[in-house]
Amino acid sequence: MINKILIANRGEIALRILRACKELGIHTVAVHSTVDKDLKHVRLADESVCIGPNPSNQSYLNIPSIIAAMEITDATGVHPGYGFLAENADFAEQVQKSGFVFIGPSADVIRLMGDKVSAIQAMKKAGVPTVPGSDGPLPEDKEGCLKIARDIGYPVIIKAAAGGGGRGMRVVHTESALLNSIHVTKSEAGAAFGDDTVYMEKFLENPRHVEVQILADGQGSAIHLFDRDCSLQRRHQKVLEEAPAPGIPDEARQAVYDACTRACVEIGYRGAGTFEFLYEDGNFYFIEMNTRIQVEHPVSEMVTGIDLIKEQIRVCAGEKLSIKQEDVKLNGHAFECRINAEDARTFLPSPGKVVNFHSPGGLGVRVDSHLYSGYTVPANYDSMIAKVITHAEDRESALNKMRVALDELVVEGIRTNIALQQDLVRDQGFRKGCVNIHYLEKKLSS
Ligand code: ADP
Repeated sequence: MINKILIANRGEIALRILRACKELGIHTVAVHSTVDKDLKHVRLADESVCIGPNPSNQSYLNIPSIIAAMEITDATGVHPGYGFLAENADFAEQVQKSGFVFIGPSADVIRLMGDKVSAIQAMKKAGVPTVPGSDGPLPEDKEGCLKIARDIGYPVIIKAAAGGGGRGMRVVHTESALLNSIHVTKSEAGAAFGDDTVYMEKFLENPRHVEVQILADGQGSAIHLFDRDCSLQRRHQKVLEEAPAPGIPDEARQAVYDACTRACVEIGYRGAGTFEFLYEDGNFYFIEMNTRIQVEHPVSEMVTGIDLIKEQIRVCAGEKLSIKQEDVKLNGHAFECRINAEDARTFLPSPGKVVNFHSPGGLGVRVDSHLYSGYTVPANYDSMIAKVITHAEDRESALNKMRVALDELVVEGIRTNIALQQDLVRDQGFRKGCVNIHYLEKKLSS
């Protein structure tokens, strides 16, 4: 039984979790850094605890402080949101050992999927299609590495097993550059992640980013909530997402959904999770699994009508999955635009006081945001300040709805990327659909 949840996060996702808890009749504890005392969810929570100064490593990443806050407030569960401690297996383990419920999979599963080499091996075993590659860490001997690359065929990509956030990767186009690239990626990975294990994959030249949302109860049941296309990215950061991914044949889709749900059962997955794939020429290639709720989860909620956070809380509290696969119906199309406090040209963060905030509305328009007029966006954290989500019966209508919603959105006092999003929803290439992961950067550089 969970009767009180501590929300170990901030911003829009903390507010999103708070709303789900309130609907379920679960008491809430907000934890915050000094500067975050006026966050919307802190004001709305039943209780709040300051867990430290502004730098994340002294507050939102401070495991002893968060566990102490759970003890003081008698919270029974903790929701980590995304980012911060959401995929930290040591945190999940300490939460479990302290007798609390972690809203996510077990520490062992987080560990298995957090290491990309072990994740790929587990997925291969479960029949999930992966990128042709080294099937494990690269060997020490040079000849061995050269042979693997020759077998895969250039270009290849060297990736850190412990990598994340788009870091720890290097593309290699020719054999002459291979050994040096492996060496450099290894030392960077060692310095950045404390683990210098690297592996090799075929570098796909023009893939799309397509991911599958799943829910599982760790008791033998798993379902999928269809897919999302997140190909519009800048520096590997998603900018605009949609559900479902356009233009994918039903057969390819169904095969990948089946593989994902089977894999969840096989690894004993519990909670909400996402299988990320590159999609090229009709084929899916697994790249990694996110063992947490994702920023873009609302588009899947809109097209299925399922509240992912409420379901995540239920299954992690030990309930069996109550939704059957045949009851999950795909209804229409949804988009999400991430609104960031950043300069439209340089992309540099633009913190400061929001003097005026006006949210769009109307049928099929959803805004997940912690912003209010008079709120000051601190410089210490991620620059995302809002997510505008639209839902309609088909792709074109949902996109038109987004165009209108963005034109209604007002954020004054700080710089934002609203103009970029307004441009994107009018972009003819994007409106046609099926753009690849290079589309946005090419557009920005032209
Ligand atoms: P991270 O955990 O850092 O996000 P991923 O493994 O998810 O790393 O890869 C991030 C991005 O890097 C992908 O979305 C894609 O743009 C690119 N990428 C990764 N692997 C490949 C590959 N084999 N071929 C082409 N691009 C790749």
